[in-house]
This record gives sequence, structure tokens and C-alpha cells, in this order.
Amino acid sequence: MYRSYFRCIRGCPGEYSLYDVIYTCPHCGGLLEVAHDVDALGNRSAAGWMNLFERRAGATQWPYGSGVWRYKEWVVSDLEDDNIVSTFEGNTNLFHARRLGQEIGVPDLWVKQSGNSHTGSFKDLGMTVLVSVVKQMIAMGKPIKAVAAASTGDTSAALAAYGAAAGIPTVVFLPRGKVSQAQLIQPIANGAIVLALDTDFDGCMRIVKEVTRDQSIYLANSMNSLRIEGQKTVGIEVVQQFDWETPDWFIIPVGNLGNISALGKGLLLMKKLGLIDKLPRLAAAQAAHANPFYLSWKKNFSEKVTVKARPTLASAIQIGDPVSYEKAVKTLREFEGVVAQATEAELAEASAQADLNGLYTCPHTGVALAVLKKLVARGVIQSHERVVVISTAHGLKFTQFKMRYHMRELEGVDSRLANQPIYLPADVDAVKRALDEKLGSIEHLR
Ligand SMILES: *Cc1c(COP(=O)(O)O)cnc(C)c1O
Ligand SMILES: [Zn+2]
Repeated sequence: MYRSYFRCIRGCPGEYSLYDVIYTCPHCGGLLEVAHDVDALGNRSAAGWMNLFERRAGATQWPYGSGVWRYKEWVVSDLEDDNIVSTFEGNTNLFHARRLGQEIGVPDLWVKQSGNSHTGSFKDLGMTVLVSVVKQMIAMGKPIKAVAAASTGDTSAALAAYGAAAGIPTVVFLPRGKVSQAQLIQPIANGAIVLALDTDFDGCMRIVKEVTRDQSIYLANSMNSLRIEGQKTVGIEVVQQFDWETPDWFIIPVGNLGNISALGKGLLLMKKLGLIDKLPRLAAAQAAHANPFYLSWKKNFSEKVTVKARPTLASAIQIGDPVSYEKAVKTLREFEGVVAQATEAELAEASAQADLNGLYTCPHTGVALAVLKKLVARGVIQSHERVVVISTAHGLKFTQFKMRYHMRELEGVDSRLANQPIYLPADVDAVKRALDEKLGSIEHLR
């Protein structure tokens, strides 16, 4: 049978049950990771796994209709199906961004639409695993009263939704005034206890760590590596969508650095089990206003840099002291990774440019696209390469960002691509004049 357990990422001895309340190594305080019995998994051939995953894709059979639980043996193999809390997350489309790719100079450009998900962000992929394990722990008689998380807006939405689906109480800690309106109302609607604190994300993180020292309140932040196990399926799913061909590049916006570690972990497992034979390269994209990972990379990772993160339109990655730093450094080394940053103006213009090519991007996806443009301009990414940008959230969560862009209200942003409504009386001649002017001017531009 397959087996999964926690172990220290720094190699300390010790194996811990996934159903124990434990987040860090008792020896060194480092993060844990979920380990799998790769030898046992290797008893099935690569072709056998591919076949199994293909048969499950698109099915409704519980729980394999989920894009996470389709890979159940690789995620948490021994979870009881009855305890799985799933919205059939994952299964998100790859958007072939042909026109945008041509504009940028990489025609083989794809956007993995992770935001086309139950709560509108990729956080659903991790939360289904964490809440399912909690449900099993409660069924085993563990005295868990609630699940809690600090959040920049998307973790809290996912936690509240999965908690509500399972009937498990949730508590979310949000930096007051620093999440979008949609992100604030999501956990409220799902019945979470919503605590809006006068601090930033890093401040919320410090408090939730204290509160969850009480073992009856379970910690749902990504320092809890159960979430990483679910999130790691995104890369596996992309490769499956390309008929088991590895793209050349993944570009992913990063804050706390859990997601990029997860992406790498899934791809490495595929390689170990022979489903792929080459690894892609990874590019981590940061907002210049919250760039500790970029600064660390500049120093060749000789030390972990932390910063006081400044406000950024990419509010879900406004993080100055990333929890999963060590994991991400390892990932960058294994994947010949690069890190680049985008200013507020760059991310806003890149997001608008993508929208004009049919996408509807969140500001974090704007960060990734701005970084893509830089890496292409620098020749790091070449025009013939296949590039996958991980879009992390749905643009509909960030209406104010888009409104303010198009109304030219964003400070320091020129809004070069602003498109404003034309206010007219209900008069045919006025309408005709306006259309003449607009369509004429479009002709003229061609
Ligand atoms: C959480 C989040 C990220 C960053 O993921 P990390 O694991 O914190 O690096 C990026 N974009 C969005 C929209 C997010 O919600
Ligand atoms: Zn350790």
C-alpha cells in the first residue's frame, strides 16, 4: 500500500502522521513536507499512471472528478473518500493566448486559469487537502474546534468555503483595508469568524501562529504542508493537458513562496516516476513593492532577505517575510529558476494588455505577465519556447483595480490602455458621431 507522512525539509530524523497536529520540525523548527513512498508508487509504470489519470479526468466519480483527487495516490493516499471535502477544484483550462503571445514575442504562450475555480483562486487546490485531513482527524476523535488562517484574501475565501462545505468552523485573520471587497465578503458569506486586524499580512501571520499554539485550533496557512500537496497538482495537470509534454517555462507570481514550491514538487515527482524526462525552467515573479525573494536571489540566496512590504495593487502577494523561503530556494536551484520583479505601472499595464487580448486578469497575473515581457526582452526566454503563465486568481475579485485603471485613478500609473465609457444623450446623431470618431480612429491606427 502507499504511504504518506510528514518529515523535516532539512533532513532531521523523524516521521510524523499527517493526522497529528504538527506544523514544524520538533528538532530544528524548520518546515515539514509531505513525503511519499516513491518505491511503492514506482510499482506502477509511468504509462500505467498516465492511463489511470486520463481515465479519471473529466469523470464525476467521487473523488476523482476533482483535479486534485484525480492524483489521490500522489497527494494523500490513505484518506477515506467519505472524508474528502471537494468542490471538484482543479480541472482549470489552459488559455492559448495567441494574440498576446504574438504581441510579446512568444507565440506559444498559454495561461493556466487557476482562478477559474470555486472561490476564484488556486488556493482551492490546497484547501481541499487540508480541510479533508481535518475532517478525517475530527472523525478520528481529535478535539479540533476550528481551523484558522492569516490571509491576504484568497486563503481566507477558500478556507471559509471548504469549512462551510464540511461543517467545520473557521477563523480568518485579514489585514484591515488590504484585501479587495470581494475577498472580504467571501468568508463573511461563508460564515467564517472574520477578524480584520490593524496590521499587514506579516502581522496577521504572527498572531495566528500564537493563537494556533492551542492545538484545538488548527493552522491552515501554507506553512502547513498539506496545502502544498494539493497545490502541487497544478503542474501535473498542465503537463497532462499537453499530452504529457513538459513546457519550457512556467511563470508564477509569488508571495509566501508556497505555490512555487508546490509547482516544483509535483513536477519532480512526475520526473521520479518517469512520466516526464525533462524539467521546465521556473520564473518567480514579484511585485517590486514586496520583493524579498527577488532581493535574496540577487544575493545568490546567500541569506534570506526580509522587507517591510509596501502596499501593492497585487495585494495577495504583499508579503515581506515569506514562510516557505527555504523550500522555494531549493525549488529554484532544482529548476534553474530566475526571479524578476514588476513595478506597479508595469503590472497594471501588463494586466490591461492581457485583457485587451481576451483575458480578464488579476493584478498578480499582471505581475507574471510583466515579468514575462522583461524576460523575453532580455533574451532569457526565447521566442520559440512554450511558456505557461500561472494565473492565480480571477479578475472578477479585483474590480476596483480595473475600475481605477480605466478611470486613470491609479497613482503612478499612466493607464496607457484605458478604455472609458462614452456618456451621451439618447440621440441617434450623437451616437453616430461618436461611432464615426471611434471606429474612424481605429481605422486610422491600422
Ligand atoms: C496566494 C496567492 C499568490 C501567492 O502564492 P504564495 O504561495 O503565497 O507564493 C499569488 N497570487 C494570488 C492571487 C494568491 O492568492
Ligand atoms: Zn528539522
